[in-house]
Amino acid sequence: MHHGETFRHTHFMDLDLPEKACTFLCGDVICRYWDWAKKVASLFPEYKRMIEGMKPFLGRMHAKVHEWYCQIIWVGHWMSEDALTIGEEQEQVFSKMSRYGSETKHMGIANRRDHLTAAVLFWNDQKEKGMALKQIEISNKQLESDISKYKLKIEQLPVLLGELRNAEKECKAGKEHLKDESPLQ
Ligand SMILES: [Zn+2]
Repeated sequence: MHHGETFRHTHFMDLDLPEKACTFLCGDVICRYWDWAKKVASLFPEYKRMIEGMKPFLGRMHAKVHEWYCQIIWVGHWMSEDALTIGEEQEQVFSKMSRYGSETKHMGIANRRDHLTAAVLFWNDQKEKGMALKQIEISNKQLESDISKYKLKIEQLPVLLGELRNAEKECKAGKEHLKDESPLQ
């Protein structure tokens, strides 16, 4: 592979989002894309709507290969109103649907279509009726257990998040300072 992820698809989606009143934009390299989108918006005012009011969002698993501070700045886990979205929804579809490959590969076209339609409808039904509610329960239990394990109070969490964000800014500034001094650029 000679090229990493490009901005093309993210930009294409970004152009469409303000019209649909979406407020989150998720991408696998959003940390780099966002700097670029801000530059574009400053040069071409017609693209300002792409960044105004938009919350850039990095998928949680993709973030594991970014710098640690990227995980603090960009992962939706730390954003309000993201409802614990992980930003890997396409990957979840791929992983679920790939299981049907071996089941449907010897079927006729009509049978395969019916089978996949039923599978997708069943999956959506499960998500609506169970998964979201179950996830709230699991997350609440996890929060309670973390709070008691680390002997915290719930009011301390925003303060801790503030400290984490300050640490992230200092680390990022330090790295950029080092990069400025480095002769290898
Ligand atoms: Zn990053």
